[in-house]
Amino acid sequence: MAYDSENIFAKILRGEIPCSRVYEDEHALAFNDINPQAPVHVLVIPKGAYESMDDFSANASKAEIAGFFRAVGTVARELALTGAGYRILANHGADARQEVPHFHVHIFGQADLGPMLAQRPA
Ligand code: AMP
Repeated sequence: MAYDSENIFAKILRGEIPCSRVYEDEHALAFNDINPQAPVHVLVIPKGAYESMDDFSANASKAEIAGFFRAVGTVARELALTGAGYRILANHGADARQEVPHFHVHIFGQADLGPMLAQRPA
């Protein structure tokens, strides 16, 4: 599937719509999620046009991958989440209910985040 350059995170990267920026470097941009699920809920996105975790891990350069994941750790440290703990999450595709087709990692923190996944009826 081709990358959709009109997705909302591509527009944020191009500066066409605003975001609440918390961090930016050569490889990544981090901003607050518009619909936070925890007291801290930040999204970290690579600057390159990658649709998903699968696309990013298969096609991004080593420098992009290293730079991106280093940025995720940096953001968590800068938000002072490392002591109490935090969770990262990336949704890929339909079963994970990925909404925005630009690869992103969620960082959640500043609360007991509960079980890893919502409990489902058996
Ligand atoms: P996902 O289901 O992993 O694709 O999550 C997409 C996330 O993007 C959701 O948590 C949304 O609340 C968030 N989101 C959508 N639009 C925006 C926006 N304009 N600014 C910040 N976060 C957004």
